[in-house]
Amino acid sequence: MVKTFYLCKKCWRYTFSHDKCPVCGGKVSRPYPPRFSLEKEFKYAKYRILAKREMEKTNKK
Ligand SMILES: [Zn+2]
Repeated sequence: MVKTFYLCKKCWRYTFSHDKCPVCGGKVSRPYPPRFSLEKEFKYAKYRILAKREMEKTNKK
């Protein structure tokens, strides 16, 4: 089961809190916004790369 995590819009930390950021108290949202800027995209590009690698591993099975 995949845990749902959220991304703070203020400090860009990942958190499991769906209410607000435990670090800065900023608003959190799902890390997959319908619209995103290039800057935001860059911030979590490394997570997407990791996810892609996992997918490729699964496909090769
Ligand atoms: Zn925050």
